[in-house]
Amino acid sequence: MTRVKRWEALPIDTGVVHVHPIGDLIEHDTNGPVCVCVPEVELVPNPHGPDGWLHTHSSLDGREARE
Ligand SMILES: [Zn+2]
Repeated sequence: MTRVKRWEALPIDTGVVHVHPIGDLIEHDTNGPVCVCVPEVELVPNPHGPDGWLHTHSSLDGREARE
């Protein structure tokens, strides 16, 4: 069986976006400040408003390595 694997950019709050893998081996916590995969958090400066935060989750199946 071939599973379709993709990523989703999920706006959580004003200026806060979580990029997380869909259909991963675990559920990613996109509501709390810390997910079990230890997301990379990047500050995204916004000259027109408050700065944004980009949370990039890691997939447990290692799909980043192939994409
Ligand atoms: Zn995660």
